[in-house]
Amino acid sequence: MKAIRRFTVRPALPDPLTPLSELARNLRWSWHTGTRELFEAIDPEQWAASDCDPMRLLGSVPPARLTQLAGDGAFLRRLAEASDGLREYVTGARWYQDQSAERGGELPGAVAYFSPEFGITAALPQYSGGLGILAGDHLKAASDLGLPLIGVGLLYRHGYFHQSLSRDGWQQETYPVLDPNELPLSLLREADGTPSLVSIALPGGRQLRAHVWQAGVGRVPLLMLDSDVEENDAGAREVTDRLYGGGSEHRLLQEMLLGIGGVRAIRTYCRLSGHAEPEVFHTNEGHAGFLGLERIHELAAQGVEFDAALEAVRAGTVFTTHTPVPAGIDRFDRELVARHFGPHAELPRIDVERILRLGMETYPGGEPNLFNMAVMGLRLGRCANGVSTLHGKVSREMFAGLWPGFDAEEIPISSVTNGVHAPTWVAPEVFRLGARQIGAQRTEEALSVGGSERWDAVAEIQDVDIWELRRELRGQLVTEVRRRLYASWRQRGAASAELGWIDDVLDPDVLTIGFARRVPSYKRLTLMLRDRDRLMELLTHEERPIQIVVAGKAHPADDGGKRLIQELVRFTDDPRVRHRIVFLPDYGMAMAQKLYPGCDVWLNNPLRPLEACGTSGMKAALNGCLNLSVLDGWWDEWFEPDFGWAIPTADGAATDDDRRDELEAAALYDLLERRIAPRFYEQGPAGLPDRWIEMVRRTLTRLGPKVLAGRMVRDYVEQLYVPAARAQRTLGGVDAAGELAAWKARVRAAWPRVAVDHVEASATGATAELGATLSLRVRVHLGELTPDDVEVQTIAGRVDPEDFIADASPMPLKLVGGPDAEGRRLYEGPLALDRTGPFGYTVRILPAHRLLASGAELGLVAVPSQGTGEAAGVLLR
Ligand SMILES: *Cc1c(COP(=O)(O)O)cnc(C)c1O
Repeated sequence: MKAIRRFTVRPALPDPLTPLSELARNLRWSWHTGTRELFEAIDPEQWAASDCDPMRLLGSVPPARLTQLAGDGAFLRRLAEASDGLREYVTGARWYQDQSAERGGELPGAVAYFSPEFGITAALPQYSGGLGILAGDHLKAASDLGLPLIGVGLLYRHGYFHQSLSRDGWQQETYPVLDPNELPLSLLREADGTPSLVSIALPGGRQLRAHVWQAGVGRVPLLMLDSDVEENDAGAREVTDRLYGGGSEHRLLQEMLLGIGGVRAIRTYCRLSGHAEPEVFHTNEGHAGFLGLERIHELAAQGVEFDAALEAVRAGTVFTTHTPVPAGIDRFDRELVARHFGPHAELPRIDVERILRLGMETYPGGEPNLFNMAVMGLRLGRCANGVSTLHGKVSREMFAGLWPGFDAEEIPISSVTNGVHAPTWVAPEVFRLGARQIGAQRTEEALSVGGSERWDAVAEIQDVDIWELRRELRGQLVTEVRRRLYASWRQRGAASAELGWIDDVLDPDVLTIGFARRVPSYKRLTLMLRDRDRLMELLTHEERPIQIVVAGKAHPADDGGKRLIQELVRFTDDPRVRHRIVFLPDYGMAMAQKLYPGCDVWLNNPLRPLEACGTSGMKAALNGCLNLSVLDGWWDEWFEPDFGWAIPTADGAATDDDRRDELEAAALYDLLERRIAPRFYEQGPAGLPDRWIEMVRRTLTRLGPKVLAGRMVRDYVEQLYVPAARAQRTLGGVDAAGELAAWKARVRAAWPRVAVDHVEASATGATAELGATLSLRVRVHLGELTPDDVEVQTIAGRVDPEDFIADASPMPLKLVGGPDAEGRRLYEGPLALDRTGPFGYTVRILPAHRLLASGAELGLVAVPSQGTGEAAGVLLR
């Protein structure tokens, strides 16, 4: 029978145990081992049965056990200690407070961080993959560092799907129903106790309303908007039903709620809690980009003109792009967007045309009828970045069309390489080994804040201890794999009696390789199957076998991905290899936390350069697992032969995809067979694989400190948040923003008449001598502009065979005269011929203003046309 109404009956904790409630609600337990052990001690069996979820645990412990604990002095002392520890963690001064004190208020007072998904713990399933887990790690690291961050997202009632398999290996999806009352969340309420309501106007007079749930992520509040409220009509209630589900309009509404509703939620939260208002708004990928429009709209309500408001808002906005594939970017029909904004819908004070222009693809090949969220993100954010060095470069090339006339290196998109939150991802056994070596306090600091001097002591850990640890972790994984595989086969319809073979699946002494990730085609789940016979030989090798654990979810609408999974599952079902290769359904954080530490080698074989960063290999490395990967994303940046192996890529070669897969798969098999397996099984005098252990040690000590989310968040503070806060303080005031906006409008209007008229150098001819200095004289037309509005530069450097200046370094020229009778100004400057070989120079005019972020900001540049002198260059021999 179906219930007509459901309640959540909360456990009544006996008085002495009430601190448990706070410990369960603050998600710090998800990365704080001591707190987790305290919960486990309440009832180890229930703890396991509740999937290590304190809320579920407290709901299921028998009252008699609670009464018993309420009189257990030893338990109460542990409880008091954990509770004091949390209070100290949440209120004490940390890295950010020390920095702020030292740097006299240069750091932002608060930062808002928007993301469509957050992966904090398996107990709050609001993520699908890397983007969400990164966002979760960002919040946790911000909390550890004491950064005053507010997270903003949506609360999906169905979260992301659970994956299981049909008998023949086809992915099945089920969507759990989440009841926020059973999650570690609390409702944001007004002073009178009524739930706060955020509201968005929809076309046709409808309203989309949402409640705001708060999660405590250590010190960081995470606000999650939930449209499943009684005040909404049926359609509006479903807006936050699931992550990345539904069609275009559904997604647009989700993104409007996230961006626009998110800013409104922050304002409400700050009003009610007294939290400082954010000075910096950071959008994790383009999905939350509407947050900038809402802030422009707020300023419009105060009478600020659109252009000035845009400058003020841009100043404090940081945009992080995560995808190097144009198909990965959110684009909406222009008409659909137009319908949702304007006088009869949302943001009525902004001209709809202005909104549409922000998302327009104004570059060659752009689609005039589409509204591009990444393009809007770049226009609304003064600071933008990619997520690894290589991805920064790929992004600059990908978006270069928005800055016509500039070389890719000058496109204002920087990069901060992702990191992972070590306290979440390091296995307790690894932590304990570190603690034995350098103490628990220092280990904790080393993992959260970073700083390589804290790691050095790890180098002194004995070989035998490292190897025992590796074996223990591998053994735990084997047990976990068998348990999951058994459950999966039962689910696929097998009877227990058929499943005896599962007791022999995997071997705790065999080289273990892990491969787990979402299944978009560029990640090439099935590359390892390219030559099945060869793989089979590797798996069943007499002396040096390997074993492989695979996992991954395909997007529910991606049948291609599901076919890849099926292909793989069918291979793993083969009785000849099923003890050596397994596919585990329902990849998620809980599985990941067991999987990474238990593997010896983490495999990643994306199509370079489509993996923006990748983070699973970092999590593996922190547990002493070596990486085997294509040189893409983070591995391209930090690969060293001490940390693992690089799979050679055939990108750039004139090959089709098929040939490329074949070459790269062959390289993968060769590495496994000739380099990796021999090293793992080779034993030194003490009977240990010395060389392997040395690689593990170097991975921990030298790679470990780089891959930390603490390092990443500190990079964000220095490279993006502080500059954005500075710009916000200058341009947030209406006067400066208005000045900059008016100046930009004037420069844009006048630019067509700005031109380089003539260039001459004091020594002419095709060759010159090393060490000589040429004197450059340039005549320019500035039209209505004055010399104060521009910078005239020379750019010189080595030229390639196409006369392209490769390592350009711009130098400003000096105004020396004019205007002459024809209105031309004269600029001069030296040009040092300081290197031999093909050398070239050119000149250009850029807009210049003290409030600009960079010379490329307006995307305007004037360069010599043909025949303006000998601007083509000189050649040095
Ligand atoms: C880390 C992680 C990811 C992302 O891994 P990539 O290497 O970026 O593919 C995806 N899912 C889970 C559960 C993770 O823990």
